[in-house]
This record gives sequence, structure tokens and C-alpha cells, in this order.
Amino acid sequence: MNDILPPESARWEWLEATVREQMARFAYRNVRTPILEHTQLFVRGIGEVTDIVEKEMYSFEDRSDKHGQAEHLTMRPENTAGLVRAVVEHNLLYDGGKRLYYMGPMFRREKPQRGRYRQFHQIGAEALGFAGPDVDGELILLAQSLWKAIALTDVRLELNSLGQPAERAQHRARLIAYLESHADQLDEEARRRLHSNPLRVLDTKNPAMQSLVEGAPRLLDFLGPQSLAHFEGVQAILKANGIAYTINPRLVRGLDYYNLTVFEFVTDRLGSQGTVCGGGRYDDLIVQIGGKPAPAVGWALGIERVLALLEEQGAQVPTPVPHAYAVVPDAAAMPVALRTLTQLRELGVRVQMHAAGPDGQGSFKSQFKKADASGAAFALIFGADELARGELGLKSLRDGKGEQVARPLADLAGLASHLQSSAPND
Ligand code: ATP
Ligand code: MG
Repeated sequence: MNDILPPESARWEWLEATVREQMARFAYRNVRTPILEHTQLFVRGIGEVTDIVEKEMYSFEDRSDKHGQAEHLTMRPENTAGLVRAVVEHNLLYDGGKRLYYMGPMFRREKPQRGRYRQFHQIGAEALGFAGPDVDGELILLAQSLWKAIALTDVRLELNSLGQPAERAQHRARLIAYLESHADQLDEEARRRLHSNPLRVLDTKNPAMQSLVEGAPRLLDFLGPQSLAHFEGVQAILKANGIAYTINPRLVRGLDYYNLTVFEFVTDRLGSQGTVCGGGRYDDLIVQIGGKPAPAVGWALGIERVLALLEEQGAQVPTPVPHAYAVVPDAAAMPVALRTLTQLRELGVRVQMHAAGPDGQGSFKSQFKKADASGAAFALIFGADELARGELGLKSLRDGKGEQVARPLADLAGLASHLQSSAPND
């Protein structure tokens, strides 16, 4: 679990702001659900035989309430189950489909390594109540627009279809037979999953099993005409929009609730933590969580991985610095200085106040040193002489610094626009 501190936190804020703008452009609306949910929600929603539910959840028994009932609670390992719970609980689909998004911390007790943390952060988009491939396509276009807005390159799209439960059942029987006939080549995890969740065996990261899973029966070959039509519908949208993709028949995703479309945006530049964003359709989840049947599709991206990939690319992310730093030689001028700063801030200026040390305001020179270190483009000087004339001093901290000039306190609006228009990095 990480502390996210300046200047790194500025990259997070920039990413989050860019995401909000993109979500608004696609008319996805924000949802915030609690960190804690009943454990049973995740067991039912994510599936009993998944890494998350088997071994990664932070679960605990809450203190008993006055009826002696203790609740089993879990810190959310993902947000789709909680979002669907909220949609069901508040009957959000009563008047038709909804497009929603979330962002926030998730918790999984994984083995920590680069790109894999125990508290990590996801942004997710979910479209509920829409059955057609058009919305699957829209969600992929939304992710793609986001990559464009943050100038993320080096991700490629992998696509697959998991078909419908009946198709999966047919494939499952054949897959189990195949894996059993090669039982000697299965690792411990695969043997454990062989009967509970054989599809997940295909998702193994064990290099020794790659050739075995490559030869396994493909779920795609078991899809009926309707599933194939849906899959082709999604691909037609991607082609018409010039979005490159590859079909990966072994892409199954780690959570149990998916059907039909599944996809991942992956990169080769983050080692084995190469999945930046993953999602798919989960038409049966709403019923499993107790709602009326309704189709749904969504994705989630990992903020840490997106930022790591941007950094890997050497991307420059804008970091806000103050427009101005207020140099206040004499503490007596501080009340007037602060009143002026408030007015400038109300006009949109970012300005950092010089704070006194144990020995008072400090020398003019030391104040200017701090002004330089702040990254501000200008110093505002609240000297006693200037204030007595109804003025303040303005000095550039960039490009050879330049002379100090006087600006009338009566025209703060003019000063504000000068500070804002001349500042770099905006
Ligand atoms: P992985 O295969 O890498 O474990 P996953 O299939 O468990 O990923 P999802 O549950 O689909 O991942 O979560 C969506 C995204 O959240 C992932 O693609 C990844 O970017 C990010 N993510 C998942 N787990 C972690 C983690 N422990 N630390 C950081 N990011 C994570
Ligand atoms: Mg995982």
C-alpha cells in the first residue's frame, strides 16, 4: 500500500480530471459505493473459485450488533459487484439503461511487486441494461479516447468471446477431458482448478504449461450463431473506427462473471504486469446479485499501471505551480497582503504566501530564494513603501528576472490576467 505524495500526486489529479472529462463526453455518470461490503456480495459476484475470493480478500467479522449478529465484511477488491449491488438496491434501471463510472481504491492481498499492490486504484466504466454489441464497442471507444487524451501509446487491444453459459458448458466438458488426458503436465494450480474452473487453467502464467494450453480446445469453436453475431458486431465497430485488435482465444479474465465479449488493453513495457485495462460483458451478474435480469458490460483500468506506462514512455504530465509567490518583507504588511491574495485567488490566480519562520519574516534574499523554489513565475512584493503608495511590486522570476515594476492595488483584475497569461505550464 503506497503513499501518493507530491509531485507524483499531481499526475494522479491530472489523470482523474482527464478521465472525468472523457466520461462526461460519453455521458457516463459518477457512482461512489462504500469500501466495505458484505463478504457474500463478492463471493456470489466474483465467484468462489477465483484468486480474489480464494485468497486475496481483506475480510473480517464486524463486532456483533445488539442482536448478537456479527457481519462478515470485506474491503472491496473490485467495484463492479458493489456498483451492481447499488444499481439493484436503488432500482436504477427502472427507466432504462444506465452508463456509470467509478474511481477509487481497491484491496487485494496479492504478492506485492512492481505494478501489483495491495491497495491499488481503479477507474471503471459500466453500461447496464444494454444488450447489443454497440455498447461493447462504445466502451472500447471510450477507453481508446482516454488513451488518446493522455497520449498513452504502446497498448494493444486483445479481444475474445466467452459465449453463453450453455456454450461454455459444452466446451468445458471437452476441455476437462483434454486436460485430464495430459494430467502429468498440469501444475498444482491447474490440477486444483481442473474441475472447479477449468477455463482459468487457460489463463495460466506458468511458462511450462504454455504449449499444453495452446493445444487445448478453443471456446470460440463452440459458439453458436447468436454469440458469433454479437462478436462480429463488436468487431465491425472496431474496424469502422480504425481500432486495431487481435483475437486472443485464451483470454478469459480473472473474474467469473463474464460472458460474450471480453477484452484487455495490454502492454509489453510493464513486465508481467502488462494488463492496463480489462473488461467484458456480464449479463448474468445482476440476477446473481438479486436484481431483475438485465445485461451489462464494463471495464476497469489500473491507475498505477497507466501512470507507470506513461512514465515508461517519458510523457510529460502538467504539474500546477503557483503563478506568484508573495514576498512580505515586514510582518506588519501581512494582513493587507493576505487580503490582496484572497482577491487574486478569487480571480483565479494561484499564489503561495510567504510564511514566517521562528525569527520572523526572514531576509528579502531568503524570501526570494523560497519564491524561486516554489516554481512560481512571479514574485509579488508587499513592501511598506509600495503599500503606502497604493501599489505592490511585481518581479519576474524567469528569463533574466527583469526589473521590479509597480502595479496599482486598485487594478487587481489587470494584475491577475497578467500573472495568468504570462505563466508557463498552463
Ligand atoms: P492481473 O491479471 O494483472 O492480476 P486482473 O485480471 O486481476 O489483473 P482486474 O481484476 O480485471 O485485473 O482489474 C482491472 C485492472 O486493475 C487490471 O488490468 C490492472 O490494471 C489493475 N489491477 C488489478 N490488480 C492490481 C493490483 N494488485 N495492483 C495494481 N493494479 C491492479
Ligand atoms: Mg489479478
